[in-house]
Amino acid sequence: MKAHIVLLPGDGVGPEVTAAAWSVLTAVARRGGHRFEGSEASIGGAAIDATGQPLPAATLAACEAADAMLLGAVGGPRWSDPSAPVRPEQALLALRRHFELFANLRPVPLFPALAAFSPVKPERLAGADILFVRELTGGLYFGERREQGEGDAAFDTMSYTVAEVERVGRVAFAAAQARRGKLTSVDKANVLASMRLWRRTITRLAADYPDVELEHQLVDSCAMRLMTHPASFDVVVTENMFGDILSDEAGVLSGSLGLLPSASLGAARRGLYEPVHGSAPDIAGQGIANPVGAILSAALLLRHSLGLEAEAVAVEHAVAGAFADGARTADLATPGERTLSTEEMTAAVIARLAGET
Ligand code: NAD
Repeated sequence: MKAHIVLLPGDGVGPEVTAAAWSVLTAVARRGGHRFEGSEASIGGAAIDATGQPLPAATLAACEAADAMLLGAVGGPRWSDPSAPVRPEQALLALRRHFELFANLRPVPLFPALAAFSPVKPERLAGADILFVRELTGGLYFGERREQGEGDAAFDTMSYTVAEVERVGRVAFAAAQARRGKLTSVDKANVLASMRLWRRTITRLAADYPDVELEHQLVDSCAMRLMTHPASFDVVVTENMFGDILSDEAGVLSGSLGLLPSASLGAARRGLYEPVHGSAPDIAGQGIANPVGAILSAALLLRHSLGLEAEAVAVEHAVAGAFADGARTADLATPGERTLSTEEMTAAVIARLAGET
């Protein structure tokens, strides 16, 4: 197949991990006879320096012309003044809004070879495989907010429409159908009216997905169960802020922030794919960033924007295989063990990919 992917390296380690993910995509293309064209566009702090804007018009045009967007990370101490009129992270919000990317998929990758790096005991982790579907353009982060009076009062609003819950709910039900057939919907329906609407809507949708087992959990008890019974989850769907917090919590099960991928999807096939980590200014430019979060994001791109499921699985297996062979980046180091650079880790994944059938 032919596809055009726009690369948005951004700041800090962003360019290093984006280059790694692109090398893997190039290897996938070679192996499968596909033609992936990549073009680079500036975003975040780097774009502010070059043009004064975190998301220049030329970058947005390049994204519109592409089949998928692969982002590194944005931000860093250079642009961290919260009162500055333009800030790197505005680019992410603008992209989400422009392309209506309402569903944020965050799988929690758990590799048996890395079990020792998880804060949870291996026997509790055994069999765990969780996919979060976080609502990304509504809820508490997007509701009306105001600071009142002399700054002695303030409010935020959590609001949802049925249509907003339905569209993210359908993404989650479909994901559960393609996995192990279980969906956990997380809310706070015992207290919040918007969350009662959430629960009613998800319950009604379930009739269209008879092969999916639906359960509801309150957000507080879900937070505990993720640590005590991680293997009891398959797909988890939830409100924007709840999903932000719970997916970060579950991410620690993996053992390193550098491993976590994400996809932001809308109604169209074109999605935005990026590792969960930030620009890691403390290690930027040293060639030691873990590229796996970006590489697994590229796997999500193959699955969700290009429809190349077998290729996505091959990349995921290649990463697991590299870890099983003992490949370790500095964030996964045990004393005395040799660690791999970003490029060496990428090469280890590509070498494993060559052996995948
Ligand atoms: P961070 O994720 O950049 O780093 C947190 C810690 O994790 C650091 O010690 C870092 O070295 C380590 N780390 C992160 N990615 C790694 C990788 N691939 N391999 C190995 N170690 C890795 O978070 P932060 O320090 O809070 O934020 C730094 C900057 O990134 C800030 O400007 C922040 O706003 C921005 N940020 C951007 C995004 C994004 O682009 N989506 C997300 C989070 C933070």
